[in-house]
Amino acid sequence: MTDRKTELASNLARVEERIASACAAAGRERADVTLIVVTKTYPASDVRLLHELGVREVAENRDQDAAPKAAACADLDLTWHFVGQLQTNKVRSVASYADMVQSVDRDKLAGSLSTAAVRAGRELGCLIQVALDAESGERGERGGVAPDGIEELAASIAEAPGLRLDGLMTVAPLAGEYAGRQRAAFERLLEFSSRLRAAHPAANMVSAGMSADLEEAVAAGATHVRVGTAVLGVRPRLG
Ligand SMILES: *Cc1c(COP(=O)(O)O)cnc(C)c1O
Repeated sequence: MTDRKTELASNLARVEERIASACAAAGRERADVTLIVVTKTYPASDVRLLHELGVREVAENRDQDAAPKAAACADLDLTWHFVGQLQTNKVRSVASYADMVQSVDRDKLAGSLSTAAVRAGRELGCLIQVALDAESGERGERGGVAPDGIEELAASIAEAPGLRLDGLMTVAPLAGEYAGRQRAAFERLLEFSSRLRAAHPAANMVSAGMSADLEEAVAAGATHVRVGTAVLGVRPRLG
């Protein structure tokens, strides 16, 4: 193995161990939690190595980086998640390679995604990004709809051609009542998820937890964790 592949393999093994212990501690099956590796800022060659190591779910947060990377890896059976704040002028590009958009946080974005998905002849899985620290009617600093906007947005995604409502996503807030309280934040997201599932039973994905707080997310009941740094290393710049 190359040095980089060895490094990625051992990082992956460590993350796998963390997820497995968190599942065991929570009395959950390991198979109920999916690892998504966030490859942002890292090259397509790393995505290839990760694929060789068994990774099938990858995530990106900027279309400029993601589009060429997805194209360079088009021969691989990968599921691409888009997890960044998304401007409507990037939607057409994102809809051409992303399988899932985890950062749907407003009606207008859902509408653009729907148009682009239909035009591309694709179905896009959508997660509603929830900003646990946002006030009613506002959006979070790092994107996301305020909790009281979930229901309405869910209804428009569920009705939109080309879109599939799959569940909820959050990033642990840095400010507000949940700052430093990841476990409480993720438990709150799980409450919103069970409310959502009452109206949309198939929307059962809960994406929460990153390198620093994946244990808290697994404990709270997340179905998907998004891990970048712990697998690929500290990013050279903020991404
Ligand atoms: C970068 C990023 C992650 C991964 O963060 P790490 O701390 O590197 O694990 C997860 N989710 C989103 C939305 C991100 O932008």
